[in-house]
Amino acid sequence: MTPLYEGKAKRLFATDHPNELLMEFKDSATAFNGAKKAEFENKGRFNKALTVLLYRALEARGVPTHFVREAGDVALIVKKVDIIPIELVVRNVVAGSLAKRLGRPEGVRLSGPLIELYYKDDALGDPMINDEHVRELALATPEEVVRLKAFGLRVNDLLTEIFSGAGLMLVDFKLEFGRLASDPATVVLADEISPDTCRLWDAQTGEKMDKDRFRRDLGGVMESYAEVLRRLEKELTSGESPSASASLSLS
Ligand code: ADP
Ligand code: UDP
Repeated sequence: MTPLYEGKAKRLFATDHPNELLMEFKDSATAFNGAKKAEFENKGRFNKALTVLLYRALEARGVPTHFVREAGDVALIVKKVDIIPIELVVRNVVAGSLAKRLGRPEGVRLSGPLIELYYKDDALGDPMINDEHVRELALATPEEVVRLKAFGLRVNDLLTEIFSGAGLMLVDFKLEFGRLASDPATVVLADEISPDTCRLWDAQTGEKMDKDRFRRDLGGVMESYAEVLRRLEKELTSGESPSASASLSLS
C-alpha cells in the first residue's frame, strides 16, 4: 500500500473510512531537521505504545485527541485532521534551544510554564514565530491560538503529574493540533507524544531518558525508551481512573 504521506518518523495511510487514517510509527530517528539519521529496532513499537498510553490518559482527563484505536504493534487509527502548521512547545525547565537562546544553563526551573510557537515548515527549519506571525501567515485564527495555548497548559499539567508518578520530570515537549476533517470547527491534539517529542529526565538522577540520548550521542537510546514505557505502563494501568474533577472541556 502506498502511503498518503511519508514523514521522518511516521507514515500515514488511507483507510476504508474517509475521515480516518492509519498512522504507522517507523524505526527511523532524525534530529537537527533531518541532518542526523539512524534506525533503532523497536523504536516504532515503543513510540506507538507510549502515544496510546498517553492519549488514552489525556482523553480520560477530558482532552480531545485524534486517537481512535490501536492497529497492531506499530500503528494507530486516527481521526483525519487538517494539521495546523504550528508546533506548540511547552517548557518547565531550561533545556535545548532555550538554553542557547537565553544563555541560561540547562536544568534551571522556569518560574512558570513557558509557551513557544514554531512554524511547522521543514524548508524553513521550523522557525520560532509569535502570534503576529501566525496572523500574518493566517496559520490559525486568534481564537484558535488562545485555545492552543490553553490546551498546551492543560496538557502540561496532566502530563507533569502522570510522568511524575512514573519518576520522570517533564522538562519540555512539543504538541501538534488539527482541525477535524469531519468538523473543522473542532480542534484536537494530533501527531504523537513520546520521548521523541518530550524531554524526560529521571526524577532522582536527572538522567536523560528521551531523544537527547540520540541527538547528543549518549548511547542507550532504546533502553531509555523501553524504561519510560515500562514505568508509564505501571503508572497508567494500575486500575485507577482519573477523578471527574480532573476533567475539563476545552471546546
Ligand atoms: P514529519 O512530517 O515532521 O517528518 P512525521 O514523520 O511524524 O513528521 O509525520 C507525521 C505527519 O503526519 C506530520 O506531518 C503530522 O503533522 C501529520 N499528522 C499527524 N496526525 C495527523 C492526523 N490525524 N491527520 C493528518 N495528519 C496528521
Ligand atoms: N521538539 C519536537 N519536534 C521538533 C522540535 C522540538 O518534538 O521539531 C520537542 C523536543 O523534543 C523538545 C521540545 O520540543 O522536547 C523543545 O525542543 P527545542 O526547542 O529545545 O529544540 P531541540 O534543541 O530539541 O531541537
